[in-house]
Amino acid sequence: MRIDVLTLFPDMFEGVFGSSILGKAREKGIVRLHAVNFRSYANNKHNTVDDYPYGGGGGMVLKPEPLFAAVEDLLDEGGAKPRIVLMCPQGEPYTQRKAEELSREEHLVFVCGHYEGYDERIREHLVTDELSIGDYVLTGGELPAMVVIDSIVRLLPGSLGNELSAVTDSFSTGLLEHPHYTRPAVFRGWEVPEVLLSGHHANVEAWRREQSLMRTLKRRPELLETAELTAKEREWLKRLAAEEAGDNG
Ligand code: SAM
Repeated sequence: MRIDVLTLFPDMFEGVFGSSILGKAREKGIVRLHAVNFRSYANNKHNTVDDYPYGGGGGMVLKPEPLFAAVEDLLDEGGAKPRIVLMCPQGEPYTQRKAEELSREEHLVFVCGHYEGYDERIREHLVTDELSIGDYVLTGGELPAMVVIDSIVRLLPGSLGNELSAVTDSFSTGLLEHPHYTRPAVFRGWEVPEVLLSGHHANVEAWRREQSLMRTLKRRPELLETAELTAKEREWLKRLAAEEAGDNG
């Protein structure tokens, strides 16, 4: 996979692209990551990429020319047509499903905004997707782009040491993941659940599934509406929810 990021602050990506899972994926040739300063595509004497908003008001607006030129330059290099993803608090809420969808692409381009926002023609005529990482406003699109890129790269085959972990992670299964324990078996008097020490694989799996369902019911019940559940599990969860409602009432 190839990922290009159009940003005014390419230095911000150095640490993230060079460290941990992303750094290793890059070293192994699983992903090519580039941060490009789109100021170098400004077509004016002072290299300005922003301007005052028509109609007045506060804040500066990113001009269309540098971003269109930067994207077109990437397209000129040939290859498959990339998805062009605008980071934007008004965009589609980002989810694990979207990470899975984007991880199947060959080439992604991320556009990081700054200041008040973008000229609307960028949204309308340049990008293919608009993504928000949550209902809050950051100063720029760099941190959101890093979040999205990290979640995509870890899904690429060979990126994670343990392939299973991406499959069982929260949201991948439609549920929150079960709790984890490691040694020591007793820490300050707090014991690891006995079933995990039993060596009985089927019982461990059953416990994990049960914990995952219970945790999802407690913390994110809306996920259960779309999760793949057996009829028996649905029945069990219904009873559990009724018991809890009884306890709280
Ligand atoms: N005036 C804009 C609005 O109200 O929608 C907010 C602009 S914000 C200060 C500057 C840039 O940060 C945005 O263009 C976007 O690239 C990025 N950004 C901020 N919050 C974000 C979020 N929750 N998700 C994705 N990108 C975000």
